[in-house]
Amino acid sequence: MRRLTILGATGSVGTSALDIVARHRHRFPIEAVTANGDAAGLARIARDHGARFAAVADEAAYPALREALAGTGIETGAGPAAVAAAAARPADMVLAAISGAAGVEPVLAAIGQGTTVALANKESLVAAGALVMGSARARGVQVLPVDSEHNAVFQALAGSRMEDVETVWITASGGPFRTWDAAAIAAARPEDALKHPNYTMGAKVTVDSAGLMNKGLELIEAHHLFSLPPDRLRALIHPQQVVHGMVGYRDGSIVAQLGAADMRVPIAHCLGFPDRIDGPSRRLDFAAIATLTFEEPDLVRFPALRLAIEAMTAGGRAPTVLNAANEVAVEAFLARRIGFADIARIVERVLEEEGVGPAPATLDDLWLIDHAARQRAAATMLNASAAAS
Ligand code: NDP
Repeated sequence: MRRLTILGATGSVGTSALDIVARHRHRFPIEAVTANGDAAGLARIARDHGARFAAVADEAAYPALREALAGTGIETGAGPAAVAAAAARPADMVLAAISGAAGVEPVLAAIGQGTTVALANKESLVAAGALVMGSARARGVQVLPVDSEHNAVFQALAGSRMEDVETVWITASGGPFRTWDAAAIAAARPEDALKHPNYTMGAKVTVDSAGLMNKGLELIEAHHLFSLPPDRLRALIHPQQVVHGMVGYRDGSIVAQLGAADMRVPIAHCLGFPDRIDGPSRRLDFAAIATLTFEEPDLVRFPALRLAIEAMTAGGRAPTVLNAANEVAVEAFLARRIGFADIARIVERVLEEEGVGPAPATLDDLWLIDHAARQRAAATMLNASAAAS
């Protein structure tokens, strides 16, 4: 039995995890579940899975949550502190599946209690990788990667020494714009960017995938998760998304993890770890797949990936700034306030102005850097729209 808390339970990763949990109910009792504003969805999940505690980050959603769970005996809470409190409740594992830097504090709260973290929330490592992995190491807490590429690398590394690793590859579908020219990408609308070829995911990560920013965030995530220097990490376009990650060793061996493009594969791996549990994903039929192809990513058509690689290489606060500016820009793109090419433009400008300095060593540092980058991104958008009108 493994008592589980799911942060971001109403989202795409949260829902996939609950699908696995529902197939192994006695193995994974639920301690707590959280969401942002989807009180009705969260209340349903809390009831269906017999959670002890449910919290929404958005306080405006609290009356609806309280009412929906009245008489059930399930405790409720609201606000970011209540989400962090959910993460700090006694559990064997916390699945961190909040989207964005809002996930950092609950991840640190889980680590602070010594609870194993299954991490989907890549932004927490991009914004605060040294802080999060430093506190995990200090507490002896295991961080298991849920992100499919990192889960693949984790599996391919099993039993090996890091000093024997030459290269780690993480793969990418290439997104909906893989074959588009730069002008077409610049004119892309939210509905174009939201069409991921292989996965159904939350809006933010789907837009990140379309511009390959997601792959850049994942390189930074891998850098922190596996303590690997940037020059040993590579992104590779692989449209079939059958190979999720590969590790090349000093003797010339390459070990890869393969599987269906279904988040329930890495989630099941983390939930069961170190055991294997039954997973519901489609099994691969290699004769039907027939061909696997790989391409170098194009850093000219996809400048967001270049910016993320530069931020990873520069280190310090650059990845924190990149993440915050990107969150602001993606939200503005989804609200149709800026164009697709503006996302990378804004991130580049904010990095130039805010990106130099030490990495955040505390949560207070993190929010200062994050806030300044968000303000700079908002000001950059305002200036650009004033100049255009
Ligand atoms: P979704 O947008 O589908 O879900 C996000 C979840 O987080 C929801 O439960 C949402 O609640 C909650 N949430 C959003 N903002 C806040 C906040 N400020 N405070 C507390 N909770 C919040 O995202 P995904 O499931 O797609 O992605 C989650 C994370 O996993 C991201 O970091 C993403 O990059 C990563 N990831 C996702 C993959 C996927 O296949 N989806 C694959 C690999 C990694 P509500 O529903 O109320 O808005």
